[in-house]
Amino acid sequence: MNLDHTHVAVIGAGVAGLTAADALAGWGVRVSLFEKTPFLGGHAIQLNCKATETCVKCGACVAEDKLRRTTRHPNVEIHAGTQIEAISGRPPYQIAYRTHSPLVNADQCDGCGICFQKCPVPGAIMQGRAPRVGPYVAIRRDLCRYFDNAACSLCRDACPQGAISLSARAQAGTMQADAIFLATGFSPYNPSDKPYGYGQFPNVITSLDAERLMREHAVMKRPSDGGTAGRIAFVQCVGSRDAQLGHPWCSKICCGSSLRMARLIQSRQKDAQITFFYIDVQTFGNDFQSFYRSAREDIKMIRAIPGDILRTGTDELEVVYFDPESSASRELVFDIVVLSVGLIPAGDNGRMARILDWTADESGFMPPHGSSRQPAPAGIFSGGAATGPMSIAESVSSVEKAVFDMVRYLTAS
Ligand SMILES: Cc1cc2nc3c(=O)[nH]c(=O)nc-3n(C[C@H](O)[C@H](O)[C@H](O)COP(=O)(O)OP(=O)(O)OC[C@H]3O[C@@H](n4cnc5c(N)ncnc54)[C@H](O)[C@@H]3O)c2cc1C
Repeated sequence: MNLDHTHVAVIGAGVAGLTAADALAGWGVRVSLFEKTPFLGGHAIQLNCKATETCVKCGACVAEDKLRRTTRHPNVEIHAGTQIEAISGRPPYQIAYRTHSPLVNADQCDGCGICFQKCPVPGAIMQGRAPRVGPYVAIRRDLCRYFDNAACSLCRDACPQGAISLSARAQAGTMQADAIFLATGFSPYNPSDKPYGYGQFPNVITSLDAERLMREHAVMKRPSDGGTAGRIAFVQCVGSRDAQLGHPWCSKICCGSSLRMARLIQSRQKDAQITFFYIDVQTFGNDFQSFYRSAREDIKMIRAIPGDILRTGTDELEVVYFDPESSASRELVFDIVVLSVGLIPAGDNGRMARILDWTADESGFMPPHGSSRQPAPAGIFSGGAATGPMSIAESVSSVEKAVFDMVRYLTAS
């Protein structure tokens, strides 16, 4: 099969897009990989390896492996910091895009970390894992308050190297693609509207914040004062299995991910007391049952979802819940509360669907590959968490199946 003259655009460079790009490049296809943020790897590259004495098969290393392979492949051209503006034609497609120059000058930045301390938005400044393919420190335009209403420039003002420029320019470009692979992933639910004090109480964090804190400090530090948190609560199903929000789905990965995180914390902080508030525990993988049995020995499991979280005068958190065993309201006090946020449709799915002349499904996720209810336009393929909540392993296998069909499509056309 000779696919040397075919050209595919992969949109989104999370583990799904990297897998698609790597697999297609392996078939000889020329690939343009578009990523809207300055970093490749999506959410998976932000996760910790959760191995304690042995590997717990969390999948975090898969993203790093895909990143290394894809960025080295000569058939893959990377467009980081790039938004797709328009797609026309039926195929080949004409793609118009806009690439933003990086806001952090990699040559000037010495990685001192002052910008991280100053930034008021968790996750808006990121530390890259792949310095060879982009800036080591980068600012996410979609989260940075400067690009919302020019309200904040604390990082730029504080940078001792003058490496940050918030008024960097964008360059327009066009290309032609024989087919398009959509791998735009998911958004983590933002729990600011829940009665849990997220965004107001510094020690209420999301599961993604917890991943970042553990990467930065190796133990769980309280954001309020930098002390090590001893009493830690995980609250499951925040933003999923919630009919009121219109998110009835289970996000599938949160129970396993949070329990593995809890075990990682316990392995590094021997005196940590961990409590897990849950509806029911979703199991996955052949060996999850034995992992779960041993986790239950050291983790206090409470089958209830808290109604409220209150902040004490000393920045502790009082979690109020209805105890089904005693049929009474109870309170427990913690140093830190981790909200296990659900996987919801990516913010610009609607826009991407319009650009592609397709429709998202009723939940807001993109239709999965091979959907008979909402068949994709000719030459458009999809995979990974853009099509619904899924783990890293599931994202990879969904993409591999779609790539196989894409190769058949390219060969036949
Ligand atoms: C807190 C947390 C913990 C998790 N723990 C685990 C775990 O332990 N094990 C596990 O298997 N899974 C875990 N997951 C799930 C895992 O993150 C996903 O399976 C994986 O990230 C899916 O990869 P993806 O590439 O489909 O999506 P994403 O990771 O969301 O990547 C999508 C990429 O596309 C980019 N993009 C979006 N729109 C556009 C656009 N219009 N143009 C260009 N680029 C675009 C995004 O910026 C992003 O880089 C966890 C998730 C969370 C939130």
